[in-house]
This record gives sequence, structure tokens and C-alpha cells, in this order.
Amino acid sequence: MILVVGGAGYIGSHLVKELVKTNEVVVLDNLSTGHRWAIDERAQFVEGNLGSEADLEHVFSTYQIDAVMHFAANSLVGESVVDPVKYYENNVAATLTLLKTMMKHNVKKFIFSSTAATYGIPSVDMITEETSTSPINPYGCSKLMIEHILADYAHAYDMEYVVLRYFNAAGAYETAEIGESHDPETHLIPIILEHLLGEREHISVFGSDYDTEDGTCIRDYIHVTDLANAHIAALQSLLANETKTATYNLGNGLGYSVKEVIDTCERVTGKKANVVMADRRAGDPARLVASSEKIYRELGWKAERSLEEIIASAWKWHQSQVKVVK
Ligand code: UDP
Repeated sequence: MILVVGGAGYIGSHLVKELVKTNEVVVLDNLSTGHRWAIDERAQFVEGNLGSEADLEHVFSTYQIDAVMHFAANSLVGESVVDPVKYYENNVAATLTLLKTMMKHNVKKFIFSSTAATYGIPSVDMITEETSTSPINPYGCSKLMIEHILADYAHAYDMEYVVLRYFNAAGAYETAEIGESHDPETHLIPIILEHLLGEREHISVFGSDYDTEDGTCIRDYIHVTDLANAHIAALQSLLANETKTATYNLGNGLGYSVKEVIDTCERVTGKKANVVMADRRAGDPARLVASSEKIYRELGWKAERSLEEIIASAWKWHQSQVKVVK
């Protein structure tokens, strides 16, 4: 049985949809930002808190857990700057409670959702896992702290883990049963699509004076199903005792500027956007693009879906949401 903590959230729920095809799955989630309807019905569900010893004890004593995948975190850079306590409590302290319970029950295989924000403002155009980590906001710090803790646990307690540093997750499940649904929404692609559906008056571009070709920030967008498949490759490798500890970037290796993403959304949807230039957003590096060669070399995983496919799947999902109020 695989425990997916945070399996009701955006990325967690997409992972669960793939994982239930091959494994028994139990989801632990407090539904603070995730949705009950997003959890595949083939998975068991326990409503509870990652930071609650009682909730964790219940899960670990009810189910025979072979490995844990951890998606339950707060992940907004701007919010982390104004409310760091929330980030250190939920992302660090609560994760420690999870790790402690795992050790107590002798569960030692762990997959951790980390982030490109651990790199801060990278000194290179193509970020590898060797690029130095120097986060510039509490969100990135909170994730890097857990990475360091995992390395110490591996050394001291034989913990086996894979850290996956996500770049910009986007897109929706192919059938549009589930997709990105944050409240409030802060991410670029859903904001553009909501605007193109008439739910927002305009799109604000946060900064047009960056040191990039068109002056807007460049990011590496990766389809959420590609991300899910990377987790499954990592899990298989841990379960087969082929990987003991590893850290991988998850991206497409391709960078797109905010303007290019807007253009692509217009092309995919056939609609024209009302774009307004705005100030830079605090904590945004100009360019974050991943080399994912390491995970390809070691686990044979690479991103399969293009920016067009990401946007087309998200568009299908957003259109379905206009009609179905969940
Ligand atoms: N962005 C923007 N307008 C928006 C939302 C985002 O210009 O309404 C920019 C943001 O500044 C960043 C890029 O789009 O450069 C991707 O932002 P997002 O919040 O989607 O992901 P992040 O890179 O913060 O994880």
C-alpha cells in the first residue's frame, strides 16, 4: 500500500489517478486546499492532518504502508514571504512529524515534492541538480530544509528517498475529470484561460523589463501527467531497491516567456487576450529552466507533452468547469 499525503491536491490527485492503475493507494489529506472529488475512487481516503501524530498513527496502524509520497505543502512564494510561520509549520514541522511516524513504523521509502525555488536566482541558464541551491523566499527554504533533513535521515536511519524538484506544473488530466483548481488562483496558465473564458477582465504581466529576449520571465512548464509519471518511475526504483537516495529536476528543458505563454494560449483557444503590463512580482527570478537529463539517464523518464498540449488539456478542463460547478 502506498500512502499519498496530499493526494487531494492538484499534483497529488493526478499522481493518484496514475498510481491506482498499478498499486493500492491510501490518501491522507485535510482538504485545506485539495478537493474530495479529485481523489480517484479506487483509492482509500483518510481525512486528517500531516502534522497530527494521532492522524498519522491511525493511518500507519490501519494500513501496511510500503512507501510514502508527500505532496501536502503550501506552495505560494508571495504568501511565504508575508507569512513564513505558515510555511515553516506546515512544510517543515508537519513533515518532521510524518518522518518520525514513518521511522516508528519502519517505513523507510519516501518521495518528496521539492521545487525549483530551492535554486533561488540560478547562475546558469540550464539548471542541473549540481547547480547551487540558495533559495530567496521562505517557500524555497522550507523545501530545502526537508531535503537536508532527508540526507541526514538517510545517513543515520537508512531512510531511502527521491527528491523531485518541480519546475512549473500545469495542464489537466486527459479526460478533464480533474485539473488545476486553486482558490485564489495565482498561476499563469489558469489565469490566462480564466480570462479567455470571460471570468477575468484582463491578464497582468508581472514585469516586462527582465533581462530576457522579450523582457518577461521565462519558466519551464511541465504537464502534470508527466510529473505524475516521474513519481511512478521513482517509486518503482525505490521499491525495487535500485535507488537509495536521489534528487532530480522535473522539467521540459524548454523555457517559455510569459508573452510566449499568452501567445500560445491565444493560438490554442482561438481567442484574443487583453494584456496589461504590471510591476514585477516579489521573489520572481528572470529565468528558471531545468535540465532533466539526470532522471532520463537514471530512470528513463522524460517529459512527453509540449506547451501546446499542456494548454489544450487545461483549456478542456477549464471549459468543463464553466458548466459543472463542483
Ligand atoms: N505571471 C504573470 N501574471 C500572472 C501570473 C503569473 O505575469 O497573473 C508570471 C509570474 O510572474 C512568473 C510566471 O508568470 O514569471 C509564472 O508564474 P506562476 O505563478 O504561474 O508560477 P511560479 O513560477 O511562480 O511557480
